[in-house]
Amino acid sequence: MIGEESDDLREGVRQLCRRFPTEYWRRCDQEKKYPEDFVGAMTEAGYLAALIPEKYGGSGLGIHEASVILEEINRAGGNAAQCHAQMYTMGTVLRHGSDAQKSWWLPGIADGSIRLQAFGITEPGAGSDTTQLETTARRKGSTYEIRGQKIFISRVQHSDYLLLLARTTPIDRVSRRTEGLSVLMVDLRNALKHGLSVQPIDTMINHETNALFFDDVPVPVEYLIGEEGEGFSYILDGLNAERILIAGECLGDGYFFMDRSTAYARERVVFGRPIGQNQGIQFPLARAYAHLRAADLMRVRAAERFDRQEPSGEDANLAKLLASEASWEAANAAIQTFGGYGFATEYDIERKFRETRLFQVAPISTNLILTYIGEHVLQLPRSY
Ligand SMILES: Cc1cc2nc3c(=O)[nH]c(=O)nc-3n(C[C@H](O)[C@H](O)[C@H](O)COP(=O)(O)OP(=O)(O)OC[C@H]3O[C@@H](n4cnc5c(N)ncnc54)[C@H](O)[C@@H]3O)c2cc1C
Repeated sequence: MIGEESDDLREGVRQLCRRFPTEYWRRCDQEKKYPEDFVGAMTEAGYLAALIPEKYGGSGLGIHEASVILEEINRAGGNAAQCHAQMYTMGTVLRHGSDAQKSWWLPGIADGSIRLQAFGITEPGAGSDTTQLETTARRKGSTYEIRGQKIFISRVQHSDYLLLLARTTPIDRVSRRTEGLSVLMVDLRNALKHGLSVQPIDTMINHETNALFFDDVPVPVEYLIGEEGEGFSYILDGLNAERILIAGECLGDGYFFMDRSTAYARERVVFGRPIGQNQGIQFPLARAYAHLRAADLMRVRAAERFDRQEPSGEDANLAKLLASEASWEAANAAIQTFGGYGFATEYDIERKFRETRLFQVAPISTNLILTYIGEHVLQLPRSY
């Protein structure tokens, strides 16, 4: 079980997180700052190289352990988004890059000297329908020229590279719309000097997300990952792992809400007794806890199957769905338990409340998970 075999790992991450109390995260949120010191400490401790094989300088751990690392960050009151990005975006390079590409990039990503934390899929027009994306990468001699627009692309200001999905063959020249898309590594510093502009988007959480405009940005052909035209399948085959990592982050948020709420409900005395003695406070917490524990079991099952290289699509999607809903339920129970104080920033509940809401929209919305379950698990007609 995840609890026992990951105890040392959990304890190590917890110890590191204690150096970054919630005041640190509150300040980052209020000042919209990137948690530079925290990401540096996690990198130095080797946690962000968890999924990189030892031969490239990582620790070669499984998705199971990686999801525990992210869970513990969120449980400690932090936000694992940046760590998730550095830990996981490299997966496409690892699975589909050439030996030369892996040797160029992975050791630097493992030791943090290269930051690959930006991932460019979403576009204003296509939205959830990725195959309709309109950003093109046109081959011109030894480069591809990128033209188009992306939206909600996070951490561009703190990343050396962007992993980009763009169309290399026009949609009217492919037999299936999933064909003709390609994955490219974009050197962001170089791109910023040659036609890339970045427009920050203010959001309700501290996520540093942006609109990107590509005006014939050149990318060397050596930066194409895998086969031209196969990019969509490369992105798809990383999704199960990502769902399990996100489930870990949701669970971490959920346990944070439970830890804080139960402590508060025991201590806060109103009408001469602790508020936690009232079933109106106790039951929503008990119910949220039950749902978190059930989601955790599904996360464990999905992670174990994934790490044994067994089919894990159903379990990974269920884990992400259940964990994101359980964390949101816990968030609601927490804000109710704290009463007015839940809205005061110094209690951290309102910040985590905002942060955990994201998981039902991004990186994949609940509706699209439900369409996956409907179509691929329940064999119902495709709804879109
Ligand atoms: C803070 C933040 C950070 C992000 N970071 C990144 C990033 O780094 N890189 C990146 O590529 N993207 C990023 N995203 C984008 C995110 O992945 C998308 O917002 C998400 O995939 C939904 O796409 P959309 O916003 O275009 O919604 P739309 O596709 O417009 O959908 C709107 C709503 O309609 C629903 N819907 C659409 N079609 C159907 C259907 N057929 N059936 C049922 N419901 C449907 C959706 O589920 C959703 O609830 C980020 C988003 C946010 C908010």
